[in-house]
Amino acid sequence: MDAYKLSRLDAMGITVWRRREASPGAAAPDASAVVVEAPPATSPSGPGAAHEAELEALRLEVAQCTRCALHQTRTQTVFGVGAHDARLMIIGEAPGADEDRQGEPFVGRAGRLLNAMLGAIGLEREAVYIANIVKCRPPKNRDPRPEETASCGGYLRRQIELVRPRVILAVGRVAAQNLLGTATAIGRLRGQQHRHPQSGVPLVVTYHPAYLLRSPAEKRKSWEDLKRVRRLLQEAE
Ligand code: URA
Repeated sequence: MDAYKLSRLDAMGITVWRRREASPGAAAPDASAVVVEAPPATSPSGPGAAHEAELEALRLEVAQCTRCALHQTRTQTVFGVGAHDARLMIIGEAPGADEDRQGEPFVGRAGRLLNAMLGAIGLEREAVYIANIVKCRPPKNRDPRPEETASCGGYLRRQIELVRPRVILAVGRVAAQNLLGTATAIGRLRGQQHRHPQSGVPLVVTYHPAYLLRSPAEKRKSWEDLKRVRRLLQEAE
């Protein structure tokens, strides 16, 4: 594996593969099984002008939104970012302080780890689409309340319909439970094959990068989840 790819895995904080390479007698890891080249970021035909316009109209609608109390405390809405015809859509919980300030999802520390996780499966941040369950920051980063996720739900559903991803990656408990309409613990939701109920898109659950920063030992499980994502994207080609 070349130095660049190793550095991406390192950036995720996963050193297990290096140790295996170094340990005498251990089977040599298959580099191609660890990191693959990025699949094409865009479909040949592109998202289409109508979809582009609709997504932009939706972004403007969200920017004006006053459906729930979160609008009173936000600096700005955080709609979503990335390729409008992305094959992979990442869905997190809610903007934090950095995102509220910059208007873009996952730009803080957790975002940097998310970028590294994507890099580990050969995907650039720009090739995917990233959004959150709610578009406004909950005060003090508390969990979004049911009335807030309900108010915002239609926006996310429309984003999924317009981007039409082949795979959805739900990061964290709040995203997973809201997307799947369940109260099941994240530890039981990950490691399984799901479909997003409304769109039918295959859905993978993994831990939130903020949680992984606090519990680095769980990164190995996240790596399994990412490999599942990579496999599903390959199958969808
Ligand atoms: N955590 C999230 O779930 N989403 C963000 O955009 C940032 C942090």
